[in-house]
Amino acid sequence: MYYDHVAQVEMERWSRGRTVLVGDACQAVSLLAGQGASMGVGGSFVLGEELARAGSVGEGLERYERRWRPVVEERQRAARRGTSWFLPTTSGRLRLRRLFLRWSALPGVDRWVATSLSGKPSRVVKDLGPVASPGS
Ligand SMILES: Cc1cc2nc3c(=O)[nH]c(=O)nc-3n(C[C@H](O)[C@H](O)[C@H](O)COP(=O)(O)OP(=O)(O)OC[C@H]3O[C@@H](n4cnc5c(N)ncnc54)[C@H](O)[C@@H]3O)c2cc1C
Repeated sequence: MYYDHVAQVEMERWSRGRTVLVGDACQAVSLLAGQGASMGVGGSFVLGEELARAGSVGEGLERYERRWRPVVEERQRAARRGTSWFLPTTSGRLRLRRLFLRWSALPGVDRWVATSLSGKPSRVVKDLGPVASPGS
């Protein structure tokens, strides 16, 4: 048995002045998405990149949110769509899920399952790369 409150965090703004939120504080996707830690690291990486590139702290914080928020929102939507699959409420649905998981090992089906559970692949995530060191 596992009993917990499952919640996502949605904030109108992620920063005020020079104070900024990262990780679950502004973008918790919940265990339904199962990638909150990676999302926290990814968002912090983007924040670092944008602060390094921007002419001011305010500009960096704004660019961080503009770039990373759509990725978070897609993951949160995907998690909400998958709620009934993740937490089946009847034994029939549970049996269906077991069957589905067996099929998901098949080539082609595996990709479809990954996309429907974790959201569409994102260009922002694909483009994450090494941060240039100052002066380079
Ligand atoms: C059941 C469950 C399963 C999960 N499974 C996965 C998974 O498989 N993969 C995955 O990637 N993610 C998973 N997650 C999500 C992941 O754990 C979180 O997204 C991640 O830990 C968020 O990191 P964070 O640093 O933003 O916040 P946290 O890890 O919550 O860190 C915040 C820290 O701040 C501390 N703190 C709070 N208030 C104060 C204060 N006033 N002063 C000082 N310190 C304070 C807290 O004690 C905590 O240590 C799961 C979460 C749950 C609940």
